[in-house]
Amino acid sequence: MLHRSSVATPPRAIRGEGIYIFDENGKSYLDACGGAAVSCLGHSDADVRAAMHAQIDQIAYAHSGFFSSDAMEELADDLIAHAPDGMDKVYFVSGGSEATEAALKMARQYYLEIGQPDRKYVIARRQSYHGNTLGALSVGGNMWRRQQFEPLLITATHIAPVYQYRDQRDGETEAEYGLRVANELETAILELGAQNVAAFVAEPVVGATSGAVAPVPGYFKRVREICDQYGVLLILDEVMCGMGRTGTLHAIEQEGISGDIQTIAKGLGAGYQPIGAVLVSKKINDAIANGSGFFQHGHTYQGHATACAAALATQRAIRERDLLSNVVKQGENLADGLRAKLGQHPFVGDIRGRGLFRGVELVANREIKDPFDPNMNINAKIKKAAFARGLMAYPMGGTIDGVRGDHVLFAPAFIVTEDDVAKIVDLFAAALDDVFVAEG
Ligand code: PLP
Repeated sequence: MLHRSSVATPPRAIRGEGIYIFDENGKSYLDACGGAAVSCLGHSDADVRAAMHAQIDQIAYAHSGFFSSDAMEELADDLIAHAPDGMDKVYFVSGGSEATEAALKMARQYYLEIGQPDRKYVIARRQSYHGNTLGALSVGGNMWRRQQFEPLLITATHIAPVYQYRDQRDGETEAEYGLRVANELETAILELGAQNVAAFVAEPVVGATSGAVAPVPGYFKRVREICDQYGVLLILDEVMCGMGRTGTLHAIEQEGISGDIQTIAKGLGAGYQPIGAVLVSKKINDAIANGSGFFQHGHTYQGHATACAAALATQRAIRERDLLSNVVKQGENLADGLRAKLGQHPFVGDIRGRGLFRGVELVANREIKDPFDPNMNINAKIKKAAFARGLMAYPMGGTIDGVRGDHVLFAPAFIVTEDDVAKIVDLFAAALDDVFVAEG
């Protein structure tokens, strides 16, 4: 088999129990990152498993070109009942990259339906990740992921992300900073010609590329204003930060606006089944419904009944067990624990995030925020050291310009306890010691 790495074969995951995964040798791993911010209910949820079994016993899958299903319809109704303002319909896919592709094509088709065919450009942000398929990779701003595929990518314009730790200027208030970076969107729209721009894509809280970087207050309000002024669609990518991860069901709720199109995945099905979705506003749906009547897209497994059943059970579990309260509470515990233990660590530059979505940025020099030389592979060494100690943490390089900088992301399941959080902090601190003592 071709693994992600051709030089190392990972251990086999044999069994899951709560927030732990066990390998073939019986070694346990505390999953402090939910894989990649996916496993929000842990690895052995009885209700989700029962819902999947019940669905499979009736029918596992029926092609969505022929049939709908109870699971698909009920999940769509459930998602819309709790969606940000203005969202009207749900389009199912099988994961995050597929959701981005569908969102981009939907934005393009919307403008064709309303007679503005020149609108084709997409603006996105540097230090963003929207998926690994070619369209999604094109709008993503992570150079490390893009570099070798550049010749295959479609044109997208990239503007500054919100990255307060590094980019807020001395003497500048949060509000001024937010306004300054949001206004880069207006500049980009004007340079491309508003009549040519289809959409702006952004993660409300940036995940994989920068490590749980939240926006400053007011940033997304200004972005919404600019999009409305120039008729540009706002696509929010909540594949990683959504579905409760930041303490509200949708991360954008904390910014007081809604997008025109919003992608969700990961926590939607908690990893029990691969599933993603695109939330579609009434404006977009009406244009397609009253125009061609057909969204020119589709995948074989979209609306997979077993995946929808798993997602519906996941969403009900989150609500019925009031897990978002635990996300907020344990998220604060995690941030406090990391700050108490590592706030003065010579190589920890920033500890940030919201809810159970927390990032730690590693730096070679705290005073000048100097990143480590990328060739040192600090984030990979931390992952290895943590894994050896039985801790799964999600490390990434390319935090700063897609090439330099290291961070570690924590995204444990919403069921974590205070003891689990304390264990995460202790194991992580020990792993940092392992790496930095070895590095001298
Ligand atoms: N969008 C965001 C914000 C992501 O973090 C990811 C994956 O990490 C994706 C899209 C792509 O999702 P997938 O890996 O399910 O294709």
